[in-house]
Amino acid sequence: MFRASRKKIEWYLTRNLARPLDDDRTSIQLTFEPKGNGHVKEDERYYLEDKQNICGCGGDKRLTSHHIVPYHYRKYMPPEIKSHSSHDIVLLCVKCHDEYEHHATAVKKLLAEKYDIPLDGRGLVTHPETRKLHSAINALKFSQTNHKIPPARVAELEAFVRTALAVPEECAEIPPEMMEEALTRPQWTRGDDFVEHGEVVVGAMSKAELETFIYFWRAHFLEHLKPMFLSETWRVDNPIRNI
Ligand SMILES: [Zn+2]
Repeated sequence: MFRASRKKIEWYLTRNLARPLDDDRTSIQLTFEPKGNGHVKEDERYYLEDKQNICGCGGDKRLTSHHIVPYHYRKYMPPEIKSHSSHDIVLLCVKCHDEYEHHATAVKKLLAEKYDIPLDGRGLVTHPETRKLHSAINALKFSQTNHKIPPARVAELEAFVRTALAVPEECAEIPPEMMEEALTRPQWTRGDDFVEHGEVVVGAMSKAELETFIYFWRAHFLEHLKPMFLSETWRVDNPIRNI
């Protein structure tokens, strides 16, 4: 006997490859010997199961893949853990995803404090002149449709933007494409010594601590998302390494 989606169960039943074990046809027994599924350990069953395209809340619309251990931590983990991620990627609808992210962000903020590394990483170089230019351009654009900004202030902003963008004098107005290009300039960039938040947090952990960290995120996901529809073989303490 094994678990499978309703669609898969019907697929087996209509081909006489299985017989139903109960009246509502939710459990079946295969009428043939399946290949490759022998000697499956209890904690490895999840990987052999037929997965359903359904969110933990039962929704099946606008599903996205959710990394239970946030990706920006997992990507810095040793390969034997990193490559073993199918267990920790589940499908969530947008609503559940957004709700859970709120809880996950609270944890990340605590980690930022504990490991003294901001969520945006360390080593960002800010460009205040670009920020000032962006706000001047945005105010100018706003003034074109809204006349609340006094004309004297608009003239001041125009003069500032013209100088910053080196607009040729023969241009009566600042070319919109020059302003749009300027808005694409980054307000901050990564310096040579930039380090990501996840890199510092994961780098500070021993292997044993990393394992606890992964189990923590699984338990946190269960506690806060309270999925009603999650594979019965999904376990917080399922293996975290390659099997
Ligand atoms: Zn959902």
